[in-house]
Parts: sequence; structure tokens; C-alpha cells
Amino acid sequence: MTGKVYIVGAGPGAADLLTVKAASVLARAGVVLHDDLVSAEVPALAGPAAEIINVGKRCGHHGAGQDQINRLMVKHARRGQLVVRLKSGDPAVFGRLGEELHALREAGIPFEIVPGVTAVTAAAAAAAATLTDRRLASSLVILTGHRCAPAASLPLLSDSERTTYAIYMPGPDYSATAHDLLRAGLDAETPCALVSNAGRNQQQVYRLRLDQLHSHPPVPAPAVLIVGRVMAAGAKAENAEYMAAGGLSLQLLETSTA
Ligand code: SAH
Repeated sequence: MTGKVYIVGAGPGAADLLTVKAASVLARAGVVLHDDLVSAEVPALAGPAAEIINVGKRCGHHGAGQDQINRLMVKHARRGQLVVRLKSGDPAVFGRLGEELHALREAGIPFEIVPGVTAVTAAAAAAAATLTDRRLASSLVILTGHRCAPAASLPLLSDSERTTYAIYMPGPDYSATAHDLLRAGLDAETPCALVSNAGRNQQQVYRLRLDQLHSHPPVPAPAVLIVGRVMAAGAKAENAEYMAAGGLSLQLLETSTA
């Protein structure tokens, strides 16, 4: 009998940011196929009999190709296994979910998607900030600054002052991203936060202004960039409260002179 593939969001890192459903399918998994970015503590929640395969690949490095990942999901499901395809954050955000769904539909394999906490919501929590605010930002735009593929400039956007931009894969050279954002019409003084390792023990929040971004040294990967008026100061006091309340260890690095 054909098994089933669960495409599961592993969240940003810490196992306690998984959904209860993700933990429960992992405990029942026969095979776990996970990406590089998934922290080791998440696949470790699989049962002792589960086969755990790292199919990760990063920009510029080779792991299993997408076709091979698709074949592995189909092969193990056809053998009747419960397959967990574990992706960092949420599978629907920059996760090649479309290609995997296509392969599963073509092969007639039953599947289910289990959503996860995506990097930008973990990053906003780390920075003790909101992404939308009825006084400051009425839209949230999720973009990639990925420079492995030929760069595509940001589209010119309307109402950029009332928009929060979440930029995945913003580095390591931030100058192209900074250039695109300024070209899109954002004010040079727009507050930004580069959040490294959101939702993990090593998380760090670097606050700066957009005009400081081009020369900012690379922060440890993975990192996400949040740009918008919602990231304005004032958050500093909130961060102190967050740490006092025993939140994840947070190192707040002020690089802004504003
Ligand atoms: N599906 C994932 C994104 C995969 S693309 C999600 O929903 O989060 C990989 C990019 O996500 C990284 O280059 C980085 O920009 C971002 N990212 C993933 N995990 C992160 C983390 N813990 N902290 C900061 N950024 C992260």
C-alpha cells in the first residue's frame, strides 16, 4: 500500500517552535528527508527506527538535486513508508514547495502540508517588533535578495512608506539589496533589522538605517532583513523587557547612530 508524504515546516530552529502536529508526524516517520538549514534537534525527534537523510543544498554547494529529492519522496512512499519532508521555516516560503507538490501529484502520492513558523515572524519576535501596525505599516512584502541566480531588481512599489519588507537571503553583500530598496523609493533613514539565527540560541539582532546597509559587515547565516518604519527605535526598551522575561538569549547590537 502506498504511504504518505508529510511536507513539514521545521520552524526557524529551536525544536520548541515546532507545531505539535510536526512533532507527532516526526515521531511516526519511517523516513525523514531534511534540508541543511533544519537544526539537528528537529530530525532528532524522529523515532529510533526512522531513516534520516540530509538532502540539503545551499547556494553554491551541491546536495541532492531537486529531481533526486522528488524521486526519494516518491520511492519511499511507494514502499508504504510515512515520509516526512522536513523544510526549514514554512514550506510555502522560498522552499521549492511547488516543485515537490507537482512531483507528488504526478506520481499520485497522497500528501499533506504541515505549516511552520517562517523566518520573518521568528525574526520579528527576536527584535520584539511588529510587522504590521495600523499606524505605520499596512502591508508586508516578502522578497528574496538571493544573489546566486541572476539578480532581479525589486519592482517599484507604491506606498513604500507604509510597507514592511522582509528580505530572505539578503547577503552576504548587502549593497545590492540596499541599492534595490532605495531605488524602489524607500527613505534612506528607514530603520532596518538584520536578524541572524532567529529562533535559535545564537540569535542576534542588528539595528541600522537603510543608508548604513550597503557597508554593513556580513552577519552569521541564516539571516533575514526587515526594513520598515515598524523597526524604529523604542523597540530597545521592549527588548530589555523581553530578556528580563527570560526570552531566548538576545544580543542587541546597535550600529545605528540615529
Ligand atoms: N522556508 C524558509 C525559508 C527558506 S530560504 C522559511 O520559511 O523560513 C532560506 C533563508 O531563510 C535563509 O537564507 C534566511 O534568509 C532565512 N532563514 C531561515 N531560517 C532562518 C533563521 N533561523 N533566522 C534568520 N533567517 C532565517
